[in-house]
Amino acid sequence: MLECVILGEYGPFPAPGGACSGYLLRCEGVSVLMDCGPGALSRLLTYQAPEALDAVVLSHLHFDHMSDLLSMGYALEIAGRRDLPLYLPDGPHRVRDLLAKGPYALMPMEDFVLGEMAFSFCPARHPVPSFSLRVRHGDRALLYTGDTNRHEGLLPFAKGCDLVLADAALPEDLWSQSAPHLCPRLCGELARDAGAGELALTHLRPDADSARVLAQAREVFPEARLAREGMVLSLS
Ligand SMILES: [Zn+2]
Repeated sequence: MLECVILGEYGPFPAPGGACSGYLLRCEGVSVLMDCGPGALSRLLTYQAPEALDAVVLSHLHFDHMSDLLSMGYALEIAGRRDLPLYLPDGPHRVRDLLAKGPYALMPMEDFVLGEMAFSFCPARHPVPSFSLRVRHGDRALLYTGDTNRHEGLLPFAKGCDLVLADAALPEDLWSQSAPHLCPRLCGELARDAGAGELALTHLRPDADSARVLAQAREVFPEARLAREGMVLSLS
């Protein structure tokens, strides 16, 4: 079974008591942290020690997706864990350089297999180098859009996945072709057109009307849900 535990679902800053993007993937004894924004480390610690992770994958290097990796470096050093594999884009360099000083082994965003999880990546449309991730376990697959607006490569990459975890950062009235994020309706269309059975909306703005966000997605994908801390999405 592949499980995705929601550690944080807000962006670009958390709601009071909440956390930004962070998702713990667990599959047959292997665990991978996918993004690690403000608050995500605290939530991770309720499930497992960071030194027990097998890898970390960052969709991109905006702070709301990676800042807790800096303090996680201290925890790893205290635990004596070095060279934790960290898959990340190659820029912006000023941010990447901060992580290079930590106890991480920096890896390129190239397809890899870890245990029974197979990771693949698709370049996203966002102001810094960014990727969407697809995680396959057997014949089941999860798609995480990361931060992106729509682009011609996204649907082919998502096609046939079972579960979509999508960037619903922008309410429809703030979305445009040149925006850095999707909106709830586009998340719904992506899940529907990919043939997915489940959609979880994430990267939620703390000031957003969450009922409205959900309603906008459900107009095209009635099974849409809001990602919420502690929620476990599972594929078996
Ligand atoms: Zn971003």
